[in-house]
Amino acid sequence: MTNQIQRRAVLAGAAALAVVAFDPKSRSWITEAHAKPHGGGISIPGLDGELTLDPAAIAEAADDFGHIISRTPIAVLRPGSAEDIKKMVKYANKHHLKVAMRGQGHATYGQAQVSGGVVIDSRTLATIHDIDCDRAVVEAGVTWNELVAAAIPEGLTPPVLTDYLDLSVGGTLSNGGIGGATHQKGVQLDNVIELEVVTGEGKLVTCSRHHKRRLFEAVLGGLGQYGIITRATVKLEPAHDSARIYRLFYADIDQYVADQAFLAQDGRFDYLEGQVQPNGAGGFQYMVEAAVWFTSPDEPNDADALDGLSFDSSTVEDQGYEQWLRRLEPTIAFLKAIGVWGFPHPWIDLFIPASEAANVASLALASVPPDTQDPILFYPFVKNRLKPSLFMVPDEPVIFLFDILRTAPPIPGVPEALVDLNRSIYDAAAAVGSKRYPSAASPSMSRIGRTITAISGARSRI
Ligand SMILES: Cc1cc2nc3c(=O)[nH]c(=O)nc-3n(C[C@H](O)[C@H](O)[C@H](O)COP(=O)(O)OP(=O)(O)OC[C@H]3O[C@@H](n4cnc5c(N)ncnc54)[C@H](O)[C@@H]3O)c2cc1C
Repeated sequence: MTNQIQRRAVLAGAAALAVVAFDPKSRSWITEAHAKPHGGGISIPGLDGELTLDPAAIAEAADDFGHIISRTPIAVLRPGSAEDIKKMVKYANKHHLKVAMRGQGHATYGQAQVSGGVVIDSRTLATIHDIDCDRAVVEAGVTWNELVAAAIPEGLTPPVLTDYLDLSVGGTLSNGGIGGATHQKGVQLDNVIELEVVTGEGKLVTCSRHHKRRLFEAVLGGLGQYGIITRATVKLEPAHDSARIYRLFYADIDQYVADQAFLAQDGRFDYLEGQVQPNGAGGFQYMVEAAVWFTSPDEPNDADALDGLSFDSSTVEDQGYEQWLRRLEPTIAFLKAIGVWGFPHPWIDLFIPASEAANVASLALASVPPDTQDPILFYPFVKNRLKPSLFMVPDEPVIFLFDILRTAPPIPGVPEALVDLNRSIYDAAAAVGSKRYPSAASPSMSRIGRTITAISGARSRI
């Protein structure tokens, strides 16, 4: 078969799976291949993209990075425009169909899935419309990786970046988007200037802190429940060319927490994260990972950076700024190559008030094998850097993120048992005022399995 014939066959196959109408009696779709000449069913509105029944698209939308929950949609919309999403939400409202927006599918507990409904795959909305000196206008399906690749050659960077960049802008703005700059600049959703949103009524509106503010603040951190982000204007700032990275090691958790809380408020570092690591002797050590951005020859002063801290040992290293942003790429390529990236991920992600951080972390660590290879993140940020949104954090000036990024063997029952463990850790943490990051597999009853019920009109009146 020539390439041309193969391509024609693929296109004909795709067209056969493209939906043209909905039969409300049987609650099933009519595809182009089965459409009767005189019509039948209720035609779907004309789309710039397509609504597909392609089994591969449906299987992908019924899964996510967690590989624990699977809910099968009845169709996937690949929007060609924001108008397509608007039309589909209106259509779904009229015919009582559920809708869920999906970014890169990196949530771990079915957050972007919908049983028997329509998943909207934002990956076809991936245009960077504009990069200006202090902002970028991007469609919701653009990844932070793509934005970094476009902004750095202009000497610019998003102020706050997640550790892993292959997440969609719409996805992290619906969750929070936390990273090493959060202690200084809030989460990614605090660095949004304007959003274009499809509301539950199927209206396409722009909103900001100055215009339709309640909608803006409900969509940011709203997990797609209060509106679908189709486009975002996000802040950019001048980028330095280098990063000096300080790693400070502690044996004592209380000393670690005290120094981290001090650093978060002191603000001497541009980046502040930290991890719990096996110490090789059956226990754990604690590592501050901090960085100062600089442009040569203006190097940071190491004595100033480390002044007043009580660590046991330290290392210092310089990297290019973009190299630092992309630091996880080699590890992820390796995990993909050995197949482990596709294993279940029963992650737990908590936000703990600083006063309880050592207690809750110690309790959670009691359930972790001391030779674990799962990354355990443990670092602080400051509440007064956050702006109003649905990103939920404890009520204390300093808050610690605590994540166990578990990879489970794909053995039936094992991931589920770890989700149950997550739940019991979450319950203990919540009892002392902690909150959870909603993309995790540490379900709280109030947020389990919430999918948009065609983002009902009542919600969209916000
Ligand atoms: C390897 C890895 C590293 C990570 N590192 C970080 C990190 O450093 N910091 C951090 O904060 N998070 C991190 N996360 C978590 C990540 O932010 C969330 O998983 C987020 O959901 C990923 O975005 P996504 O595009 O995959 O969204 P999806 O998982 O596809 O969607 C997540 C939620 O957002 C909603 N949603 C998606 N797009 C839109 C939209 N356009 N409008 C409205 N709602 C929408 C979905 O309905 C769903 O509820 C990481 C995840 C992974 C897998």
